Amino acid sequence: MEARDDMVCCPVCDALHSFGDIPDGERARCVRCNTVIAVGRPEAILRIVVLASTALILMTIVIFYPFLELRSGVFGSKASVFETVMSFSQGVMAPLSLAVAAFVIVLPVARLSLLIWALGPLSVNRSPWPGAARALRYADILKPWAMAEIFMVGVAVALVKLADLATLSMGPAFWSFTAIVVITAFKDTQMSKHSVWTALETASSNAR
Ligand SMILES: [Zn+2]
Repeated sequence: MEARDDMVCCPVCDALHSFGDIPDGERARCVRCNTVIAVGRPEAILRIVVLASTALILMTIVIFYPFLELRSGVFGSKASVFETVMSFSQGVMAPLSLAVAAFVIVLPVARLSLLIWALGPLSVNRSPWPGAARALRYADILKPWAMAEIFMVGVAVALVKLADLATLSMGPAFWSFTAIVVITAFKDTQMSKHSVWTALETASSNAR
């Protein structure tokens, strides 16, 4: 048998193997001694990381750019999500303000950052950063609490009510936020929780 580029030697028993692309999330084992010798880099992980990074960048637009612009006669007002959240920061509404900030901004940003920390190195075929497993676990825990889409529904309801009173236009933050909701939903369909964990565990054990 002639040696080729795609041949892999088992690190334990030196048996030569040749295989094509390994399917997503699968591992190739030595036929003789069953050692894991290669892991298919799941492209889905790269997609998850790219989508999460995109959503994170869009989040900065959401926080600081105008979300909505209201005009009624000569009066006009622009508000970013940050300003909207902060408008309740005094008095009895303060807890609400904190809760909205947490659910709409802090938790989604935290979850995206944790995902990138946990899977970023894997997506470019490197060994995971320290604490990757913990980061992925926290990202899983945060999932039901990062409620950007609920906020969008609330905004939609408010828009319908306001439309009679004033002229409304959506700012860049509104469209960024819509994009984040879509990107996040799409990202969560890329790979099952189980496959992500398998990929992370495989990469971690290979690094050791
Ligand atoms: Zn072997």
